[in-house]
Amino acid sequence: MKRDERWEGVYSFEDSPFIMEVLTELRDERTGPIAFRKGLVKLGRYMAYELTKTMEVEKVPVKTPLEETEGVLVKDRRNVVIITVLRAAIPLMEGLIKVLEHARVGIVSASRGKAPKFEIEMKYVKVPQVKPEDTVIIADPMIATGSTLIKVLSEVKRYGKAKRYVVVGVLAAPEGISRIKDAHPDVEIFVAAIDRELNERGYILPGLGDAGDRAFGAPVKL
Ligand code: URA
Repeated sequence: MKRDERWEGVYSFEDSPFIMEVLTELRDERTGPIAFRKGLVKLGRYMAYELTKTMEVEKVPVKTPLEETEGVLVKDRRNVVIITVLRAAIPLMEGLIKVLEHARVGIVSASRGKAPKFEIEMKYVKVPQVKPEDTVIIADPMIATGSTLIKVLSEVKRYGKAKRYVVVGVLAAPEGISRIKDAHPDVEIFVAAIDRELNERGYILPGLGDAGDRAFGAPVKL
């Protein structure tokens, strides 16, 4: 895990050869939907594992068949809410809950509304009660302009004040991170890698394309 000097509380995993290998497979245009989804699950699992290194732990007594000794309990792992931003975050969430199996899970949809406002519309919002001891993890693979996450974070904060708000993603563009940190300075961001920039259509470069389409196939617009 590597802290990015450009912002407070922003980390990438560019120093993890395994995470970089999985990311390389996701970037590869030849990777089909099955391998793409599996890659997102793998990243979710390993990023959650890395995240536990930042969590509060407690020493606990444990009795082995031979004697009593001291063990460890990751306290914060018991108090997690994962917010899944439809649709590409579904496989990422599946990976996250393999490590954070106690998590309560919220599901939200967010899509860009009609011109000229292009407001982010959240039509589906199912979020559990958030408690002061909770770590709220927003799973969203692609942090592009940041508009979706800004809106999702504002919405989720209505459900109670958490101990930590953490965004877990695969790729981020610097402009998206800056916008999120301006709107929500308390949020920590963990991504596999921070890419160069956004193109004129809002895609991350070099990126991996449309994460939802690559995981689930392109939807038909009727
Ligand atoms: N969403 C994606 O799926 N890909 C991008 O590059 C940007 C946003």
